[in-house]
Amino acid sequence: MPPLLAAGLDPEPVNVVGGTDPTSPFLLVSDHAGRAIPQALGGLGVSAEERARHIGWDIGIDGVGRRLAEKTGALLIEQAYSRLVIDCNRAPGHPTAIVTASDGTPVPANADLSAQDAAARTRAIFEPYHIRIGQELDCREAEGRETFLIALHSFTPTMRGIQRPWHCGILHNHDPQFGHLLMELLREEGLIVGDNEPYELTDTSDYTIPVHGERRKIPHVEIEIRQDLILGREGQEEWGDRLSRLLPQAVAHYHSRYGRHPDEEASQ
Ligand SMILES: [Zn+2]
Repeated sequence: MPPLLAAGLDPEPVNVVGGTDPTSPFLLVSDHAGRAIPQALGGLGVSAEERARHIGWDIGIDGVGRRLAEKTGALLIEQAYSRLVIDCNRAPGHPTAIVTASDGTPVPANADLSAQDAAARTRAIFEPYHIRIGQELDCREAEGRETFLIALHSFTPTMRGIQRPWHCGILHNHDPQFGHLLMELLREEGLIVGDNEPYELTDTSDYTIPVHGERRKIPHVEIEIRQDLILGREGQEEWGDRLSRLLPQAVAHYHSRYGRHPDEEASQ
């Protein structure tokens, strides 16, 4: 079987941006930043208009992530392909890893997908992305660098007719410490901040934080920003700037409360 991605025609699955400050404690990851579709898959049977909706990608988060990387000097690892091809925040084989419909829109090219075709998407798109994140974390760990893993997402303001009131949401599961500190700082700005809203972070509905954050026992948070706030450049810069200001404060609070991670003794 030929590879799913055609060299020179399809974009690389992983964009690595920033990283100008090697002392930054942050690793930024963005599972749903991209909206590319491999040429071989056409438009997945979904119109361009539908693919541009929130079902295809996390609208606006690319601009937020890049601004945040620029301001903090942190490295940002982004997925370039649409979540309609394969969702990089789901374990391969998960029922919603390759959706046959999303928010009322059918995805014909994903219906009756053979195991072989699904595996080709995992190999071409999912694996290089997660391998790259894993390499970065291995490298930081080997060098004894402290890491706070920041997963960036955005959510649609209205779902099934229900308006979502939160400006942003902080998602966490087994280790909520860093998330809670960031949540307090965001609330001090007068923002409505969802605590595990609009979604809960769970072992099965998510992949990136459970695997790269929880399993490695490094502090982490999943941030969701409401899409209408970051549609344009101005909003993206505003949120990138806000997070670049608050994340270091959350780290300082984390250090004073829980110490450095990995702690001095453990790294000796
Ligand atoms: Zn997302």
